[in-house]
Order: sequence, then structure tokens, then C-alpha cells
Amino acid sequence: MTTKTWRSVAQLQNAGLVPAAEAAALERVAARYAVAITPAMADLIDRDDPNDPIARQFIPDPAELDAQPPERADPIGDDAFSPVEGIVHRHPDRVLLKLVHTCPVYCRFCFRREMVGPGRRSGLTGEKRKAAFQYIRRHPEIWEVILTGGDPLVLPASRLGAVVRTLAAIDHVRIIRFHTRVPAVAPDRITTEMVAALTAPGKTTYVALHANHPRELSPAARAACARIVDAGIPMLSQSVLLRGVNDDVETLSALMRAFVECRVKPYYLHHADLAPGTSHLRTSIETGQELMRQLRDRVSGLCQPAYMLDIPGGAGKVPIGPIYVSKMRGRGNQEYEVRSINGGSYDYPPRK
Ligand code: SF4
Repeated sequence: MTTKTWRSVAQLQNAGLVPAAEAAALERVAARYAVAITPAMADLIDRDDPNDPIARQFIPDPAELDAQPPERADPIGDDAFSPVEGIVHRHPDRVLLKLVHTCPVYCRFCFRREMVGPGRRSGLTGEKRKAAFQYIRRHPEIWEVILTGGDPLVLPASRLGAVVRTLAAIDHVRIIRFHTRVPAVAPDRITTEMVAALTAPGKTTYVALHANHPRELSPAARAACARIVDAGIPMLSQSVLLRGVNDDVETLSALMRAFVECRVKPYYLHHADLAPGTSHLRTSIETGQELMRQLRDRVSGLCQPAYMLDIPGGAGKVPIGPIYVSKMRGRGNQEYEVRSINGGSYDYPPRK
């Protein structure tokens, strides 16, 4: 069993996770984008599978050196909507609060890969943190604060608890949401103290778990989710549609079922963002829509996430289908045409 997080190409090579012939190219990747894989994830990798879906998410690939023209450093336009450091205020009723720019693992497809990791942006401390809280206090329209980053659950429970108490003291903040990979990639961090730190009396906490392959919902990860949900904290899922990881209906079905079994409601399946050097991991939107159609045919309504695109530049997220009500037709173009999951075409009358 692996006991420590690997953070260098040399460590990955020693562990037999990268071939010697690729080491030089991978050193160039690692100099550009942060590398880390936790023991929980390393232990899931099948060393005999050159296309292992866990390795593909965390082990650097020479293809990352090939940035394509539409890709950009800040794909979803965080900086354009940042009124003070650490806050992204894109929609009136909610803000992102980015406390840290570090993560327990570094995902090869990360949309914030130019911001996270050692030597990148620093954490929000001291006066900067006070200014971020002050911004939230001064904007009564902010109903929800989404703690993201980086991964906020890398912080010690005591520091997270202090953040939650500060937010909870702001009357108009009703919802505190954490976006994290920790319950899957470092389940031992979900201690009683950590779970207690996430909540405050009179406020509602949600935890959104990011996982992309059913194997990530290991027995330890399932137990970590249970500790959170048993404390009365609802959980949601977030996944990224990734070529060679989960772009087939069997894997997606197993992933969504695993979430539901863990009492984690499938929420978003993200189309992969235009992060630099990630084109080898992206699918087409048509592929995603077809997978969503197949998913709806195969698995319970409980297992259906929304398929989302974050519009490049910062215009926000939108669901991108598939769309089942496609147009008006029939006499005088008055009927709706509705497509069934199996491709059948049906009319639905307009309201008289
Ligand atoms: S955990 Fe999130 S922020 Fe961190 S590298 Fe992965 S996708 Fe990026």
C-alpha cells in the first residue's frame, strides 16, 4: 500500500507509473503544471493497463505540452469577475471564495491549472482574507458562498471552522457550499473534526464531490461520504467528461449509480474546459450529448446529472442538452415535436 503523496516525475518513475523513455518530456510537463497523486488514488491504478482511467487523470502526459489555439490560461474567466482577490462574483446571488490554490492531487485536465500548485497563486490570508469577507458582508444579494480553489478541504479543520463561523455571522449568507475532491482522493482527511467544521447553526452546508470514475468511490471514499451525509450535510456530485476516462455509457452509468449509492446526488457533468494542453482529454459536445441520451435510457432519474458547458471567457454555465423538445411543426407550425429517448418523434399540443 502506498503511504505518501507523489509529487515528482522521479517518484512516479520509481513507482513504475511512467516509462523511463518519457521521463525527460514529463519533467518539462511537471515544470509547467503541478503534479501530485495521493496514496488513495495511486493504489487504484492498474499498472498493467496502459490506458488506466485513474492514471490518465493524475499522471502527466507529454501531450500536455501541446497547447491548442482555442485554449486559454483562464478558460472560464475567473479573473474578469474578481472584484477583490479570492472572490469571483459572476452571478448576483452567489460568489466563489478561493481560500487556497493547492490541492491534494493535481488533475491533468484542471481548468485552473495556471492558478493552482506550488509557486502559483498564494492562499488567501491576513488582510486579503479580511477584504474578501468584507466584500461578502457589503453585498446583501449574496445568498450563497461557494468555497473552491484549489481544494478548501486541504485546510486544517480548525481553520475551516473559523472561516465557516465568519461566513455564518453574515445574515444574508444562507448557504455555504464546498467543492472538493478530498472525500475520494484523501478520505482519511474527513475526520469528525473536519465534518463538524463544515457546518454552523442556522446555515445550510452542501458538499459537492468531484469524482470522474466509479473506481474513485472506493470503500474508504464511500465511508468518508457517509460521515458527511450522516452529519446531515447533503452532497452533490461534479464530474468532468474526459476522453479515455469516462466517455462511455457503462462507465458513466456506474459512476452515477455509485454517487447515488453514497447519497451523493448527481448534479453536473461538465464538458471539459479549454485549459491549456488538455485537448487529448476533451470529447466533442456531440459525444457528450449522445452519452447523456444513453444515460437517460439506462439509469434511474436519480442518476441523471445536467451536462454543462462553462462558456469560455466568463459568461457562466449553461446546460448543453441533449434537447428533447426541438421545434414547432404540424398544422400552422403549432405542434411541439418531442423526441423520445429511443429516437422516436412525437407531437405535443400547444396550450390553447
Ligand atoms: S482538485 Fe480541482 S482545482 Fe485541484 S487540480 Fe483537480 S480540478 Fe484543479
